Amino acid sequence: MPATLEVACENDGCELDMVQLHYTYDMPQDVAVTDFQCPYCGQFDSLREIEL
Ligand SMILES: [Zn+2]
Repeated sequence: MPATLEVACENDGCELDMVQLHYTYDMPQDVAVTDFQCPYCGQFDSLREIEL
């Protein structure tokens, strides 16, 4: 299975709780959560991966 990860936004002003990222098999190995932007507040440096 391609990776699935849960991500939370740490921007205090952002109301997003959690999002899931679902990768395909073609996702490069060096892609990290810092390569993504919060879909709600739009910040690039506020996302954090959650270990469930
Ligand atoms: Zn956010």
